[in-house]
Parts: sequence; C-alpha cells; structure tokens
Amino acid sequence: MKRPTILVLGAGYGGLMTVVNLQKSLGADEADVILINKNDYHYESTWLHEAAAGTLAPEQVRYDIASVINSNKVQFVKAEVTGIDVKNKNVTTNIGSHTYDYLVIALGFEGETFGIPGLDKYALSIANVKAARQIRDHMEYQFATWSLEEEKDDSRLTIVVGGAGFTGIEYLGELGNRVPELCKEYDVPAEKVRILCVEAAPMVLPGFDPELVEYAVRQLESKGIEFSIGTPVVEATPEGVKIKKGEDEFEFIKAGTVVWAAGVRGNRMIEESGIENMRARVKVDKDLRAPGFEDVFVIGDCSLMINEAINRPYPPTAQIAMQQGDMCANNIIALIQGKQTAEFVPDLKGSVCSLGDSDAIGVVFDKKITGTKASFMKKMIDNRALFMVGGVGLTIKKGKFNFLK
Ligand code: FAD
Ligand code: NAD
Repeated sequence: MKRPTILVLGAGYGGLMTVVNLQKSLGADEADVILINKNDYHYESTWLHEAAAGTLAPEQVRYDIASVINSNKVQFVKAEVTGIDVKNKNVTTNIGSHTYDYLVIALGFEGETFGIPGLDKYALSIANVKAARQIRDHMEYQFATWSLEEEKDDSRLTIVVGGAGFTGIEYLGELGNRVPELCKEYDVPAEKVRILCVEAAPMVLPGFDPELVEYAVRQLESKGIEFSIGTPVVEATPEGVKIKKGEDEFEFIKAGTVVWAAGVRGNRMIEESGIENMRARVKVDKDLRAPGFEDVFVIGDCSLMINEAINRPYPPTAQIAMQQGDMCANNIIALIQGKQTAEFVPDLKGSVCSLGDSDAIGVVFDKKITGTKASFMKKMIDNRALFMVGGVGLTIKKGKFNFLK
C-alpha cells in the first residue's frame, strides 16, 4: 500500500506540535510528512509584543525549524502557500504544488481591521516577527527624527494603541519599560511622549476579572499610559486616528505611531479554500476536521470551536493551538491505522497577561495572581512552550530565566 502523504501548512504553535508528535509516533516508512512554512524559522507569536516594543530582540523570538524536526521523518519546504483546493486535494505555493492524503491547515492569524477605513494602510499590526521589527524601528525613527528636527513636531512622540485586549495591554506593558529608555537614548523629555490606548468596549480587557483589570490599569497609568475607553477608532489617516466619543462627537488624535491590536481573524488562505468559514476561521468538528472533508484538519487560530458551557467560541490562543496540534497528530495516526478519531477537549489552565518584564496579572488554576508571581508564571508558560517543541536544548537557548528582574 502507498505510504500516505501528510501535508502540514504553517510552522506556528499548532503546526509544529503536530509535526513533533508525528515524528515521535510514526516510523520513517509509515508516512511522508511534509511541513510547509513561509520562513525557515518559527517565531513565538506570544512574544511579538516584546519584539514590537524593542524589549526583546527579534532574533530571540525565533528559532530555526530545522533544529526541532527530524529530517529522516519530516521534509521541510520553505514556501509561501498561495492556494488551498480541498476539492482536488491540492495545495499551491510560490515554488510548486503538493497533493496530500491528509492535510493540516495551521496558518495562524492575521490582524482584523473590521473594514475601518485607513487601518490597513496607516496602522501597524503586531502580526508576525517582521511586522514587530517594523513597529520597533518605526517608533525609534520617530524619536530619532524628533531629536534632530529644528521645528519639533511633538505628535511624532504620540503612540496610539488601538484595542485594550490581551495583545494591546501586553504591548503597553512593554512600552512602559521601553519608552523611558528611548527618551534617554534620544534626549527626549519624558513629558513630550504620549502613550494612549483607545478601546471600543466600556472596559479594558473586556470579560476579564475586574479586580485584576483594575490592577493592570493602575500599574500602566503609573507609567504614564492613558486610556480612552468606550471610544472606538473609526478611521486612520497618515496623521493619526479618529475616535468616536459620543453620538455625533469625534476627536482626531495626531500620532506618529499607530499600532492596531484590536483583534484577529484566521489566515486569508482559508477564504478561498472551498471550506465554509467565518472571518477565515473554520468551525471544526469535534475531532478537529473541517466539516465535510474527512482528510482535512484545521487547527490553531484558523479553527473555531464553541465552548458549550458558555456558548461562545474559545479564544484563539497558543495554549489551545498546541493542544490541538498534539491531538491532530494522534487523530491522523488513528485514521492511518483504521481506528476511531478522538474528540478534542481543551484543557484550560488559565491565562496570564504580562505588564512588562516583571509584572503581570493572571488567573491560573482558578487562582488570581499579580506582580512578580504572575510574571514568573508567564515566563514559565513561555518556557514550557519551548520545551514541548524542542526539549531542554531549545528551552536553555531561547528560554526566559530572568525571574528576579
Ligand atoms: P501561528 O503561531 O500564527 O503560526 C502560523 C504560521 O504559519 C507562522 O509560522 C507563519 O509564518 C505561517 N504562515 C502564515 N501564512 C503562511 C503562508 N501563506 N504560507 C506559509 N506559511 C504561512 N496565546 C496564548 O495562549 N498565550 C499568550 O501569552 C499569548 N500571547 C500573545 C501575544 C501576542 C502579541 C499575540 C499577537 C498573540 C498571543 N497569543 C497568546 C495568541 C497566540 O499567539 C496565537 O493563538 C497562536 O500563535 C496561534 O497559533 P497557530 O499555530 O494557529 O499560528
Ligand atoms: P481581542 O479580540 O482579545 O481584543 C481586541 C480588543 O480590541 C477588544 O477589547 C475590542 O473591544 C477592541 N476593539 C475592537 N474594535 C475596536 C475599535 N474599532 N477601536 C478600539 N478598540 C477596538 O484581541 P487580541 O488582544 O489581539 O488577542 C487575540 C487573541 O490572542 C485572544 O484570544 C487573546 O486571548 C490571545 N492573546 C492572549 C495573550 C495571553 O494569554 N497573555 C496575549 C495576547 C493575545
């Protein structure tokens, strides 16, 4: 019998966990496993806010895919997926095409702009490691230019962050540490800098524990960060953003840097794949397969699962993407061996939101934590993700061990 071809698209958390489990569990002659990713490195999406603020070097956020795969069992192809045709079982890339017996779509997230005019063009988004580096460099350029200008344009030093969800808050936490360093480096008086977070909902971190939210806001405000709550961004221009403050009341905020962190959607490749989707996310069956396609699995931020206890979708997180990757590999092996697939049930351990390098808030195993304790927990979670993919070696090389900072 012909060996099945398993094609995995994307080497993020979901894709890498799938491949790592497949290479552990399958013999080299049991299947042809092909992993396609647009870069020859993986980046930790969960650390991108640090790279975007400049508190962590972009190189530290990424590692070579070759260092975590077994080339005897997995063929890695560096290519950009340009089309997925599930009806004809064909995936095209910028350098060729592939057929498959089993397909795993793990192409991750893209920033969601909800069609708000100007955002795609004029706002920066913490979407991947290259975009994060661009944000860091753009911000530094504004500081450098201001310090050279004869007639100073102080709006260069205004940073607007759209969205006070987890990404926005974590990025603000890093800015709280980085901006004082930038002020020193570029001789900028601290009072010239304005960091403003604009949130559409009536609260920061909507839906999160109010006591922890209050702590986070207090900590960020103590670093000079301002919040404008209940005031959605309605337009972006080359000069800044327009926010809605009341029924017919708008304010324009001139800003040299606008970072859009107001939500995510799935990868656009999903939308032309022939699979039913909502904002490029596929509402998957319980065993992670795309409805109607027995050989197609969709995991990570491209997938959507309903938490039946509250009748709302699970949030797209690395925590879930990794667990799905593990289960997806098990289910493919089950299919190859003619066995039943299993149901995926997320094992949620909680969530921790960092507020810079040594502060955080979180709920872990139903316990609220703040400060250095929460920050320690966040770093342990980050290290665990490295360990699960690349073992002790990768954890030592890339891990976070500055617990006492
Ligand atoms: P990704 O990790 O996004 O990986 C997708 C991969 O596909 C990438 O390697 C990409 O290069 C590749 N790719 C994309 N398009 C193509 C293409 N056309 N062709 C080839 N390759 C392609 N979640 C948590 O649980 N905890 C956290 O602390 C946390 N912090 C976060 C902080 C930030 C700043 C952000 C933005 C997100 C955070 N998240 C966190 C969410 C988490 O990062 C995502 O849920 C997770 O990355 C999804 O994993 P994934 O495998 O679906 O996709
Ligand atoms: P999100 O959807 O969680 O938050 C987006 C925020 O933007 C919301 O508060 C929303 O009200 C606001 N918003 C939407 N439209 C707006 C507008 N027009 N103007 C102003 N504000 C607007 O998105 P996210 O923060 O990017 O997070 C994406 C996913 O990644 C989530 O599932 C999150 O849990 C996960 N994540 C987790 C962590 C962590 O666990 N530490 C960190 C980052 C992200």
